[in-house]
Amino acid sequence: MSDIYNFSAGPAVLPKAVLEQARDELVDWHGSGMSVMEMSHRGKEFMGIAAQMEADLRELMGIPANYKVLFLQGGASSQFAMVPMNLLRGKASMDYLNTGEWSKKAIKEAKRYGAVNVVASSEHKNFSYAPGQDAWKLDPDAAFVHYTPNETIGGVEIFWTPQTGNVPLVADMSSTILSRPVDVSQFGLIYAGAQKNIGPAGLTIVIVREDLIGQAVAGTPTMFDYKTHADNESMYNTPPTYAMYIAGLVFQLLKREGGLAEMEKRNIAKADLLYNYLDATDFYASPVARDNRSRMNIPFTLKDAALDEAFLKGAREHGLLQLKGHRSVGGMRASIYNAMPIEGVAALVDYMKAFEQKNA
Ligand SMILES: *Cc1c(COP(=O)(O)O)cnc(C)c1O
Repeated sequence: MSDIYNFSAGPAVLPKAVLEQARDELVDWHGSGMSVMEMSHRGKEFMGIAAQMEADLRELMGIPANYKVLFLQGGASSQFAMVPMNLLRGKASMDYLNTGEWSKKAIKEAKRYGAVNVVASSEHKNFSYAPGQDAWKLDPDAAFVHYTPNETIGGVEIFWTPQTGNVPLVADMSSTILSRPVDVSQFGLIYAGAQKNIGPAGLTIVIVREDLIGQAVAGTPTMFDYKTHADNESMYNTPPTYAMYIAGLVFQLLKREGGLAEMEKRNIAKADLLYNYLDATDFYASPVARDNRSRMNIPFTLKDAALDEAFLKGAREHGLLQLKGHRSVGGMRASIYNAMPIEGVAALVDYMKAFEQKNA
């Protein structure tokens, strides 16, 4: 098979070494005679896999002991509801930053549970940047402050951590988790769907400070109460066992390769390669403000949108897949998560240069 590079925003590329290990262990995991898919989630084999996986994630992210790590289902989209249900805690309103399509969805869902104060928004500028904290109108009595450090669709990333005093900070890290180190102790809660930068779809990870658990609004379904999952080690019901196993293989690989500081170095090098070219040509353009250019999802446009289809067709012929931008934005988007090697970005830039030469 010749080299194929998959730039999908999610479900996204996984490390080849992980897929190969999963293939080798598919039918018989470590001589158990069972596939991980066939194991009881309460059996000693799977309990061991789950414990190792949690320990590895805690080590990679430096998660303090007073935080629970929950392995759930329902995607980041379910967290849009679970966060307000669990963290409202009798308060009157919640603070949200609006930087794009995912922020908007989180805000829309939160409004079902209480008043939402939008602290700042970049919607008037087509979500092309993230307002700095000096422009935020924070409410000191808010239940929490929610933001989206990386807007997967718009390609807008926030590289600094908001300072919210005693108000818990909540982050939808679906498309930036594990791409660089973060200081977890600055957050009340972090959540992420797995299918961008962790593993297969079906697993959702929630990292939550213990004092925020156990105060869900009356009527919260058992399955939507963090306490249910915290009290039962994420085994109240059947967790997404196979997705957890693959995520565990990814965590081991990241540890072997030098952890999140090394991932950040590589991700900066990969993103620079593409942005430097975008800046050097006027055949293509980046719509995002320089300080907020995502390292994970890089949207770009062709000067002449009439060439979009030809660009995508040629890209596919060169083994460069899933470059079409999100339907709400148009243009192109290259998602270059941890598992995308720099060779993939180099191949994309080479193709873009050749396409420019032919069509300029
Ligand atoms: C993909 C994505 C979501 C939605 O995730 P699901 O797992 O499909 O619910 C939410 N927020 C961000 C930032 C995302 O990238």
